[in-house]
Amino acid sequence: MWDILYSNAHLATMVAGGTPYGAIENGAIAAKDGKIVWLGPLAELPGKPEKIARRQIDCNAQWLTPGLVDCHTHLVFGGDRAREFEMRLQGKSYEEIARAGGGIVSTVKATRAATAEELADSASIRLSALKREGVTTVEIKSGYGLDLETELKMLEAAKAVGSYENVRVRRTFLGLHALPPEFKDDRAAYVQLVADVMIPAVAAEGAADAVDVFCENIGFTAEETDYVFSAARANGLDVKLHAEQLSNQHGAALAARYNALSADHLEHLDEAGVRAMAANGTVAVLLPGAFYFLRETKLPPIEQLRAAGVPMALATDCNPGTSPLTSPLAVMNMACTLFRMTPEEALAGFTREGARALGLQDEIGTLEVGKAADFAIWDVKSPAELSYWLGANLLSERVVAGQLA
Ligand SMILES: [Zn+2]
Repeated sequence: MWDILYSNAHLATMVAGGTPYGAIENGAIAAKDGKIVWLGPLAELPGKPEKIARRQIDCNAQWLTPGLVDCHTHLVFGGDRAREFEMRLQGKSYEEIARAGGGIVSTVKATRAATAEELADSASIRLSALKREGVTTVEIKSGYGLDLETELKMLEAAKAVGSYENVRVRRTFLGLHALPPEFKDDRAAYVQLVADVMIPAVAAEGAADAVDVFCENIGFTAEETDYVFSAARANGLDVKLHAEQLSNQHGAALAARYNALSADHLEHLDEAGVRAMAANGTVAVLLPGAFYFLRETKLPPIEQLRAAGVPMALATDCNPGTSPLTSPLAVMNMACTLFRMTPEEALAGFTREGARALGLQDEIGTLEVGKAADFAIWDVKSPAELSYWLGANLLSERVVAGQLA
């Protein structure tokens, strides 16, 4: 006996290689103990619904997709940067604001001053917004503490907000996000502290799944990234990288050498970087929200990534400075409108490839027997509508571990 059967649904399984969207029209999907146990055309159900499932839900011919995966966020932070937004509109650039000690450092002050509970409370407002658009898994980075105590406090808040909002959370330690003010004259000492003290402590507490670095001309160099990545690997943690957002630091190729889960942003990625990512299976996480907010003009090399077969994920990059954005559907629209991705690629970016960017491709991201029964049910007539509308509220139901949530 199955626990629950969602019938009369069009399924966008997002399994690659078959029909567009891996679609099964007029289908049904069943769950037991939180996992998918059967899916297929309604006509092939192996018995009368009431005989094979304890509970049935009629989906009224709506589309059912995997629950969305937002694989790159900075959801936990203190304060906000609306004032900086205003400054930028008065003519100051992101680099000027950062060099003047603004930017990330102002969020660091507010985050250090907040309690774990306050951080979780404010993150929960943003996570609720993601849930309203079908998100069932989210990655949350630290990186606004820049001292061990505050970094751990952020990671604790990330775990707490996931458990009370019923969202699966993967946590990433981003110690090399910015240089903390107290180390401004000794960057080597800070990099060493992150590698030799913070990463072992984070790993020992099981507080993060991966380590990330902001590799950029206003962030950290490829050499510093390399040093911290070897510490991450030595401590059994995965790695991810903010790479080639504002300039080409050859970070993506470095990340690929470490078998990174993903390299993220990539506007300035070159052909060698594309090849290195393809050879190592590194996912390209594209973040059109940051591109939009910063009014960037250099596009990531979508056509080369596509041609090389590099998996392309999408995420909100929700953060207070460069992407105060809590709408996956808006990101899908931006990916199509600004980056010329297809609606199918956009949905894959928030499902199958988002899961891969977190190393969770065996657990979530497609509708397949054995994977978690995490779904989003949408009031649309075709899955392309998810990328087509901007600002519409298209979600009917969110399903976590088989249950309406
Ligand atoms: Zn980011």
